[in-house]
Amino acid sequence: MRFKPGILFSVGEVSVVPVTWKAMRLCDFICTSYGYELYVTSLMRKKVRKFSFHATGLAFDARTRKMGADAWDIANELREYLKDGFQIIYGDPKHRDHIHVEFDPKR
Ligand SMILES: [Zn+2]
Repeated sequence: MRFKPGILFSVGEVSVVPVTWKAMRLCDFICTSYGYELYVTSLMRKKVRKFSFHATGLAFDARTRKMGADAWDIANELREYLKDGFQIIYGDPKHRDHIHVEFDPKR
């Protein structure tokens, strides 16, 4: 698992929460089984315009640039393993170069 330089693991008092780390480790495991190393491009963000799980340590983005069509399968495997509370977004105009994974405790 690698992280984009400058990525934020905490903002002020708020840090990436354990459930997000768990999901990243699982994502890394799945990526490895496809022959890729997980490259996390975004964790926490300081300035978010609208509400974002990136502001609360409950989301990460996984780069898909080198994965081609495998990214669809990886996203689907994530959906299989991460059910309760997780949402995995990939393939829409805003999520073509990365898989967005978020945990919403209210879901
Ligand atoms: Zn995201």
